[in-house]
Amino acid sequence: MLDPHVEGRPWEEQLALDDRAYRAQLAYLLEHSPFYQGKLGLSSSDEAGGLAEIAALPLTEKPELKATATEGNPVGAHLCVDRSQIVRIYSTSGTTGTPSYIPLTARDLDDWVTGSARSYAASGISAGQRIVSTYNAGPFVAGAALASFDVIGLCHIPIGTGNTERLIRAIELLRPEAAVLTPSYAAHLLEWTSARGLDLRSTSVERVLVAGEPGGGEQAFRARLEEGWGARVTEAMGIGDIGISLWGECEEQDGMHLGARGFVHPELIDPATAKSIAMEDGASGELVLTHLRHQAAPLLRFRTRDHVHVRTSPCPCGRTGPRVRCVGRTDDMLIVRGVNVFPAAVRDVVGGFAPRVSGHIRVRPAAEGVKQDPPLPVSVELAEGVETDEGLAAAIRERIRAVLVVQTRVELVPWGSLERSEYKGQLVERSG
Ligand SMILES: [Zn+2]
Repeated sequence: MLDPHVEGRPWEEQLALDDRAYRAQLAYLLEHSPFYQGKLGLSSSDEAGGLAEIAALPLTEKPELKATATEGNPVGAHLCVDRSQIVRIYSTSGTTGTPSYIPLTARDLDDWVTGSARSYAASGISAGQRIVSTYNAGPFVAGAALASFDVIGLCHIPIGTGNTERLIRAIELLRPEAAVLTPSYAAHLLEWTSARGLDLRSTSVERVLVAGEPGGGEQAFRARLEEGWGARVTEAMGIGDIGISLWGECEEQDGMHLGARGFVHPELIDPATAKSIAMEDGASGELVLTHLRHQAAPLLRFRTRDHVHVRTSPCPCGRTGPRVRCVGRTDDMLIVRGVNVFPAAVRDVVGGFAPRVSGHIRVRPAAEGVKQDPPLPVSVELAEGVETDEGLAAAIRERIRAVLVVQTRVELVPWGSLERSEYKGQLVERSG
């Protein structure tokens, strides 16, 4: 553990500390945040109580923050500090219009890097080892995660995105023990190397740390990555507006521990009703996060749109924080005759049919919006050299029905026909 006194602290003790921090954060918001002054309508933070009462406060959604951005204040009305206190401004990769800006004070940045370092160190990687990274620092928050490798004491070899030849050369010549990349890219590299007669299993890489999108925790997908890389796969997860790599998985590979404990408070809600769900072992729901000691633009009960399963049972690694496994984005969720379906879960079931399938799928909803009538169309890509086979399509359909309780129409498509991504994979494709 990077910070044993923090990461091994009994969770009840953590919650007591967090309660104090939360009350101070609320008072800070009422004093400095025009956004929350208006939204909360409280005359004093004491009215809101402590963490035990947090579910009574309103949720914060990304679009409402963005709506308050102006030419004079492009961050938005949740900005709490003078510009002289801001040391870094990240932006989101918004595909249309102006991006969202995420400002940080020196302490905010330090907290981000500290939490991220704990999360990545949970994977078992330690000082003196080498790590090759494939994030582009650029304008995005992922760049801040790179600083956490220095805190762990790693030798960091930055390669960036979209430079596969250079990446493979660095792995061969510089012999890193670990590689950090998105799960889609980790899978893409298996195909890329095998098409060129290279074998990642013979490289020095013992750990593959995946982050940036859900999927790294799906059983069949992970098994394929571990087999192809000959390495242990663990994942990490953050969310731009709140913090980088807030969560990181340990060597038990049973979900990601909260590395940003003390900085962020997690809650669960039902994404449809927004009702609070207790953070208990086995619970699932949408993750909602609250800053506990943030300065530049703290957020309260921020909806992450990440749908997670929670584990709180003791972990043999000694970390006491709750663990989560992200099963998909709430935005990707489809409802087929009352049943919630995550495309990532479909991919996981289909992945169990390897080596006959490539592992690539596309869910192709016929109707607009979330609600779909059965059968749900799914394209499943065959592995290289495998002929289409009605028996296989029927077996996949049957397994999806048994595991996910949803009727599908499975179409087998030839190897290489579904587009690959070197960054984040796409699982849903809507026509028109
Ligand atoms: Zn653990």
